[in-house]
This record gives sequence, structure tokens and C-alpha cells, in this order.
Amino acid sequence: MNSSWHFRRLDASDAPALHALEKACFTLPWSEEQCRAAFGQTPFAAFGLDSDRGVLAYISVYITADEMEVLNLAVSPELRRRGIGHRLLALALRTAAKMGMQKAVLEVRVGNTPARSLYERHGFAVAGRRPRYYADTGEDALIYARSLTNYDAAAEERKELHMKTLIAANWKMHKTRAEARQTATAIAAGRPASNERTLIVFPPFTAIAEVAAAFAAQEGLAVGGQDVYPAEKGAFTGEISPAMLADAGASWVLTGHSERRHVLGESDELVGRKTAFALGAGLHAMLCIGETLEEREAGQLEEVLRRQLRTGLAEVSAEAAARVAVAYEPVWAIGTGKVAGSAEVLEAHALARRLLVEVLGSVAHDIPLLYGGSVKPDNAASLLALDNVNGLLIGGASLEAESFLRIAGAR
Ligand code: PEP
Repeated sequence: MNSSWHFRRLDASDAPALHALEKACFTLPWSEEQCRAAFGQTPFAAFGLDSDRGVLAYISVYITADEMEVLNLAVSPELRRRGIGHRLLALALRTAAKMGMQKAVLEVRVGNTPARSLYERHGFAVAGRRPRYYADTGEDALIYARSLTNYDAAAEERKELHMKTLIAANWKMHKTRAEARQTATAIAAGRPASNERTLIVFPPFTAIAEVAAAFAAQEGLAVGGQDVYPAEKGAFTGEISPAMLADAGASWVLTGHSERRHVLGESDELVGRKTAFALGAGLHAMLCIGETLEEREAGQLEEVLRRQLRTGLAEVSAEAAARVAVAYEPVWAIGTGKVAGSAEVLEAHALARRLLVEVLGSVAHDIPLLYGGSVKPDNAASLLALDNVNGLLIGGASLEAESFLRIAGAR
């Protein structure tokens, strides 16, 4: 799609397109007349994503001398997973801050959890409540507000970067250096042109430098280690330190992969120490969590994920949390060809998000949640379309550049 970010002001002539978008997004859409009336006047402003297919996303705001009220944010279902709502809101806040506004406010249904989590990610906090505000459902409205006086544009941009979709390849114990170089070179040459996705490859330790060289520090491509030991150096035969990984060109590390937990016997506590130490040394950490089939069948999903997240992230500071990603990988789906169904992935990811907030507080809304377990080119798009799925971790299907690239470009 040839889309560009004009963030242009919409007007009454955009009413038909806006109405179509409203219909695609809401059960009670604004009529074309309402759109025409609203967008034809000032200080009512709307800004949209312009593309060759018309306006596919818009945010409408009410502007007073020192306050911006967000009235509506609509993103077509096809664009929703690409973080467009997030970017529109960030753009609106940046514009308001530049115009010298002091405050941004909005109101949202109590039950609209996806919207609330989006606003909370952007620093909005509940400032009031209007009981039974919505005539159709009798639901309460929550008033959210955030100050713009100390708006830190750089920090907001960092957050935006972190919310890119992550597509990660775990090569496990596969590939010599020459094979790794060849696959990494093909990945670098064929990666999607869009910068909305970051591709991360976790090769065996011996091939990290090869992959890093093939990626040549290009934006959107990164390399990681499959494991790390929580010490700077010392008598730890067979282990590797964060500094050694970084020296070879890695900026990421996987912790708690199910094969390390279940084949090599790593405890939750060791996984937690590894995660905290790697983050403390400046690496990004992708913590893997997931239940075995027996645990799922025994109804222990929540208990297992809570324990793995609590212990795995026990010593992680709010500052370091900006470098954390979590991969939910049901053990029974890894390397088995069995993918968790959409309902199972949705449920587990919503649960993981809730537990992450329990453990880390509001910064948890910014943490990318990846799904892993028998991801293939033909199921990647439908997995990426699910709520709270911010990326994929791929084993078997990442070994060939062609299949990994098809996953990386899946929409
Ligand atoms: C993995 O090992 O992290 C994984 C998801 O493997 P696969 O894609 O082969 O199931």
C-alpha cells in the first residue's frame, strides 16, 4: 500500500470516507451527516492517514487555547495491528505540545480495554468518571487526562520504536558460520521495505559475528544470543557473558527458552537472574514463557505464566523494562506442528499482558508480546492480526531465508 503520513486536516469533503471508516470500526458509527458537520468546522480538527485508498485512519481533536480533547480515533481493521492508532495519537500529542497546549483530555467507555491501554501507554491517567454516560449501553465513561507541560518527545519516540512488530528467528543448534552468513545475507537483502518491523536473528554463539556482519548495523535488523550467564566473567565452563555477546555484535538475548527450561533444567530463578543481568549490561532481553500440555490440561495456565513472569522479571527496573520483550510459547506447540488456536492465543496473550502489568505496572503496556510455536508462512498473518500479538518467534520455519522472509512480510 502506498500510504504516507500527511497528518493533514480533514474537512467536510472527507465525510464519505470517514463514514466508511466509522462503519468498519464501530458498532454505532457516526453518520455521514455527523462527519460532515463535525469536520467542516473549527476548532474541531481531524487528521488522517492518507493513502491511495483514501483515509484509513483518523483522529479527531477539539482544540482550545491550552487544551486538546481527543474526540475520536478510528483505524481500519486492516491497519490496526500495524500500530497506526498508536502513531496517530503520538502525532496528535506531539502537535499539541508544539502548539503550546498544556493538557490533553479524552473520555472512553469503561469497558473499552484496548483503547484504555492505548491511552495509558501514552501517559493518560483516569481523572474522573461519568456514571451511566452512554445512552446505548448505560456504561460509565472514564475521563482521562495527561499534562503536556513536560512532554518528552524523545521518550515518546523511543516508545513508538519499541512498539514495532518484532519478527524473531531462533536458529537453535543449526548452521555453521558459512551457512549462517548465507542465510543472514539473504534476509538482509530481502527484508520488507517497510520500517514497521524489526527482524531479530538468534544464531548459535559461533555465528553471531557472521550474522552481525551480514546485517551491517542496518536499521530494523538485529542479532541476539540464545542464552547468557549472569556473571561478567569467571569459572563458568561453557557459558557466555553479556559483554561477550555484545562484543560479537549481539544486542539481544533470549532467556528462558523452553528447551533451556525443560531439556537443560533451568529454574525460573536462574532465568530471572539471567534476564536481569543481561538487561543490566545493556542488552535487550526476550523472556520466553509458556505452559506444558500437562499444565494446560490441569488448568494451570495462569499460575504458570504468573510464576514465570514474576520470577523471570523479578529484578527488572522500569528503565530496563523498555528493553524487554516477552515471547509466549506454549511448550506443546514448539516444533510439533501444532499451532495454538486463535482463541487460545488471544486468551493467553491477554492474560500475559494483565500479569505483566501486575508485575511491572503501567510500563508493561509498552512491552512487545510475541507468539511462538509452529509459526509458518501460511499462519503468520492471522496470528499477527490478533490483539496483544506484537510479533512472532520462529524456530523451524526461520532456518530458510525464503520462509522467514515470507513470515516477516505477512499481512
Ligand atoms: C522456538 O523454538 O522458539 C519455536 C517457536 O520453534 P518452532 O517455530 O519450530 O515451533
